[in-house]
Order: sequence, then structure tokens, then C-alpha cells
Amino acid sequence: MTKVPREKFVPAELRSSAYEDRPLPIGYGQTISQPFLVDFMTEQLRPKATDRVLEIGTGSGYQAAVLSELVAEVYSIEIVRPLAQRAEALLSELGYGNVHVKAGDGYHGWPEHAPFDAIIVTAAPDHVPAPLVEQLKEGGRMIIPVGESTAQDLYLLEKRGGQIKQTAVSPVRFVPLTREREEKPADQ
Ligand code: SAH
Repeated sequence: MTKVPREKFVPAELRSSAYEDRPLPIGYGQTISQPFLVDFMTEQLRPKATDRVLEIGTGSGYQAAVLSELVAEVYSIEIVRPLAQRAEALLSELGYGNVHVKAGDGYHGWPEHAPFDAIIVTAAPDHVPAPLVEQLKEGGRMIIPVGESTAQDLYLLEKRGGQIKQTAVSPVRFVPLTREREEKPADQ
């Protein structure tokens, strides 16, 4: 985390607050997570240099940049297209060539690049998305906040022998995981 210039990932007017241990607004009603939480969640994943990691909720791109320093490839999905575009441009400008960003609904994961050694979800759904469990490698770990907007728990999921072990790690507060509208069947 000391390598990643956090001030580049926050709006210009908040640059002087970039190293305070709190979340900051990044536009579109979204936030860059508090550094303590980025550190804590990253540690829970026990990232290895050969890992391929999926992130749901690119936001500013900061968490993706932190992971990029530790693992082989980072795949990150952001539902707010302008945020995805901004993070992608910034990450490439800063030389984080192993981060791949796409705009879309992360609920479905990124099947083309699955399975992943680790999955980190940085927006809270009300249940663990089944596609993400499927896309986790045997022996893989997922860290995910689950719950309503007022009361969420951070869970660690580990896949062993095809079974999922789910452990509540800590109470947290993330922005909700929003969903792309399902396509309606065409009216006659
Ligand atoms: N990891 C980010 C902080 C994420 S804030 C960082 O380091 O800055 C959570 C982000 O999740 C927001 O940008 C929000 O737009 C995004 N998000 C919410 N629902 C999503 C979904 N279904 N798929 C992908 N991204 C989603």
C-alpha cells in the first residue's frame, strides 16, 4: 500500500485527505474504501504472486492497484461506466498493466477468465452471488460484505473439496451492490 499513490485515486479537492484513514467520495454516490479496510480485506485473501484475482466494484481503482502489486493478474468489474472508464485510464497511466477493467454487473462474475484464486467484493449484496462461488478455484478464497445497507457482515468463503466454508469476519458498511436491470422479454 505504501507503493500506491492513493492521492491519485481521490478527487483533486480531497487530495490533502488522501492518507486519512476514512472512506472518501469519488463521485456517482460511490466511495473509495478506508485504507484500513483495503489492507484488512487484502490480507484475508492471502494473495500469492501467481494468483489471478477478481474484484467486484472497481470504484476508484485503488484496491485493484494494491492487488496489482501483489498478484499476477487482476480482473475488476464496475457497474458505473464512467467510473470504470476513469479507473481503467488511471491504472494504465500509472503503469498497472496487469489490471483488466470492464464495465458491467459484477453479480455474474467474469466467466471468460474464471476460475479465480481469489475474489474480493467491495459492494454489499443481500446474498452471496452463486456465479461468484462457481468461479472460485478449488482452494480459493472470497471476501465479501453481505447484508442490508445498515447492517452488513464481512464474510470469508473458502472452497475446499467442492464445499464452501463461510466465516463471519467483522461487521462493516459498504455501498450496496446494485444490479443491472434484467432484460424484459420483448412485448408482442
Ligand atoms: N474498490 C473500490 C471501492 C468500491 S465502492 C476502490 O478501491 O475505490 C463500490 C463500487 O462498487 C462502486 O463504485 C459501485 O458503483 C460498484 N458496484 C455496485 N454494484 C456493482 C455491481 N453489481 N457490479 C460491479 N460494480 C458494482
